[in-house]
Amino acid sequence: MDLDWILNHLGEERDRYFGAVAPPLMQSAIFSFPTVAAMREQARDEFGHHFYTRGNNPTVEILRRKLAALEGAEDCLVFASGAAAIAAGVIAAVSAGDHVACVQKPYSWTRHLLAELLPRFGVTASFVDATEPAHIEAALTPRTRLIVLESPNSLTYELQDLAAVAALARARGVRTLCDNSYASPLNQSPLAFGIDLVAHSATKYLNGHGDVMAGALCGPQALLREAFRGPFMTLGAIPSPHDAWLLLRGLRTLPLRMQRCAATAARVVAFLEAHPKIERVWYPHSPSHPQHALALRQMRGASGLLSVAIRCDDVCGVERFCDALRRFLLSVSWGGYESLACPTAAFLPAATRTTPKPGHVPANLVRLSIGLEEADVLIADLAQALDKV
Ligand SMILES: *Cc1c(COP(=O)(O)O)cnc(C)c1O
Repeated sequence: MDLDWILNHLGEERDRYFGAVAPPLMQSAIFSFPTVAAMREQARDEFGHHFYTRGNNPTVEILRRKLAALEGAEDCLVFASGAAAIAAGVIAAVSAGDHVACVQKPYSWTRHLLAELLPRFGVTASFVDATEPAHIEAALTPRTRLIVLESPNSLTYELQDLAAVAALARARGVRTLCDNSYASPLNQSPLAFGIDLVAHSATKYLNGHGDVMAGALCGPQALLREAFRGPFMTLGAIPSPHDAWLLLRGLRTLPLRMQRCAATAARVVAFLEAHPKIERVWYPHSPSHPQHALALRQMRGASGLLSVAIRCDDVCGVERFCDALRRFLLSVSWGGYESLACPTAAFLPAATRTTPKPGHVPANLVRLSIGLEEADVLIADLAQALDKV
């Protein structure tokens, strides 16, 4: 199945919708049936039928099919947020007494789920430096049911060797889940390396316009049916049909957007790496990244998210840089049209002037999400702001 077929044809049975070129928006919570027999038939399998929108909705189903195809997966479940998708993937895998091994620096709410919420229900987790598969192996216990990966992660971009981790997990009957939000399905296919489940924050590149929150979980139907019967239907963290419809619209331009932000990011990285006020750049597709070779091996392309450490004596220099930006907006998240800057200093007390402890995220780090603007405009903005450091 080629990319254009997936984005423009798959799941779009236009003869059923008056030949409309844009996908149909079925803003309906409920569906009706001509007979009791038909109702019984649909109620039997809410995963695959349109019975009640908390389970399945025709617009959401088109999105499910496209996201599954993009990930090379059998099926997909779409959620109200990436956090909900990850939580469902984890909760479906564990029971009281079980253990989860997770990368050292996962997305903050993935950490919260594993370190704060699930321990209340008897599920424990360890966070390990997973840049070496052997470290993950060492963290496994007889009760480990799941390994949670995020390659690259979205602040300092550590990678995991997905094929190696998948192989060691399979040998022990441990399930693997990889957060693939950074790469997008276009640049990395974790399932092809033997990973069991892929999670996305569709709020980021998949939607691509900063106006929808959604998440996705892709993988074999058996695992998704288990998640469907469990956390998906019981917690009900589903997207509205309208949000699914907006996502279908955003998805059409995913290849163009990814090409554009990666090409611009390459120019921005080259500029930043040569700049005297920049102490360090983190970007998996720069040769300066410690795991650059692995990035080239397991990813098909680059994205637009990178981080820099500003050369300054205290966080005031970081604040002067950020406050001076005119084109980059100060914001969390990433993946839309607008280029964004997110300083870790925003999450520290204003008076913090010390350098942080080893292993912590540096206080002089600023994450930049490169959007779709002209590279020259963005570089000029960074240049004038760096002059204010
Ligand atoms: C944003 C993000 C999430 C959470 O997604 P939401 O859609 O905000 O719930 C999970 N993982 C990564 C890597 C993210 O960047």
